[in-house]
Amino acid sequence: QADMAMSMAKRQGRNHIFFYQTETAHQQRLDVNLRNQFQQAIEQQSLQLFYQPIVELQSGQVVAVEALMRWQLADGSFVSPARFIPMAETTGQIIPASQWAFKQACKDLRILQQHQSNLRMSVNLSVLQFGRANFFEQITSTIEAYELANSDIELELTESILMDDSSHAIALIQRFREAGLSVSIDDFGTGFSSLSYLNKLPVNKLKIDRAFISEIITKQSDEAIVRGVLAMAKRLNMTVVAEGIEHSEQAVHLAGMDCDYGQGYYFAKPMSLAEMIKFLT
Ligand code: C2E
Ligand code: MG
Ligand code: MG
Ligand code: MG
Repeated sequence: QADMAMSMAKRQGRNHIFFYQTETAHQQRLDVNLRNQFQQAIEQQSLQLFYQPIVELQSGQVVAVEALMRWQLADGSFVSPARFIPMAETTGQIIPASQWAFKQACKDLRILQQHQSNLRMSVNLSVLQFGRANFFEQITSTIEAYELANSDIELELTESILMDDSSHAIALIQRFREAGLSVSIDDFGTGFSSLSYLNKLPVNKLKIDRAFISEIITKQSDEAIVRGVLAMAKRLNMTVVAEGIEHSEQAVHLAGMDCDYGQGYYFAKPMSLAEMIKFLT
C-alpha cells in the first residue's frame, strides 16, 4: 500500500510538473499577446477612464471622483486593472498609459466642474512614475495647461512607492504638498510597515482598504482597527476615506465614528464621464 501511495505521489508530482511547464509556456504566450494589445490600446488611445464618487459622510456631498483606468478588448470584454496594471508596471507601459490618463482626467475634471465647481479629482500613481525625473513638473504643468488649480488634484500612492527609495519619495511628496496638491496613501493597512513610515510621510489623507470595511458591522476586530486608524489619523492631522462601502449600515456606522469620507458601490460604482455628469445633475 505504501508503495502504491508512493508511486501515485510520484505520478502526480510528475504530472504536476508537466502541467506546470506547459501552463507556463502557454501563460508566456498569453502575456506577450496581452502586452502587444495593451501597446496598441495606448497608441490608439482606446484606454478609458471611469470615475467613482468620493462622498463626505456627514453631508452626503460628492467632494471628489477617483479616476480608474479601463481597458476594453476588441471583443467587448474588459481586462481587470488587477491584471493589466501590474503587467504595465513590469513592462514600463504604465508610464505612457499614466501620462495619457492624467491629461484625460484633467480634461474631464474641467467638464465635471461645469456641473459642480468645487469637485476634485483623485488619480492613482504607480511606483515607476514616482522615480522619473521631471515628474513633478509634468504633473503641475498639465494641471496648469487645463486651467485647474493644484488643490483640485489628489494623488493616491501605495506603500510600494515608499519602500523603494523613501527619501526621494518623501521629498517629492513634500513638493506636491507645498504646491497645494493633496496626497493620500491608498489601500492603507494592506502593506507592511505602515506605522513605521507614517510619521515620516507628509501625506494628508489615508484611504483605509476595503478589507477592513467589508465586515466592519459584524467583525469587532475590524471595527477596532478602523477606530484606531481614525484616532491616529486625527492626531496626525490626516483625513480618512473608507473604501469599499457597499451597504448603508456601513456608511452610517463610519459617519458615527467620525470618518470623513467614503467610497464604494453603496454610493456609486465607477462610471463613464457621461454617466458621471448625469450622476452630478
Ligand atoms: P484602488 O485605487 O484601491 O481603487 C479602488 C478599487 O476598488 C477599484 O477597482 C474600484 O472599482 C473598486 N471598488 C470601489 N468600490 C467598491 C466596492 O464597494 N466594493 C468592491 N468590491 N470594490 C469596489 P478597479 O477599478 O478594478 O481598480 C483596481 C486597482 O487598480 C485600483 O485600486 C488601483 O490600485 C489600480 N488602478 C486603477 N486605475 C489605475 C490607474 O489609472 N493608474 C494606476 N497606477 N493604478 C490604477
Ligand atoms: Mg486608488
Ligand atoms: Mg484604494
Ligand atoms: Mg484598493
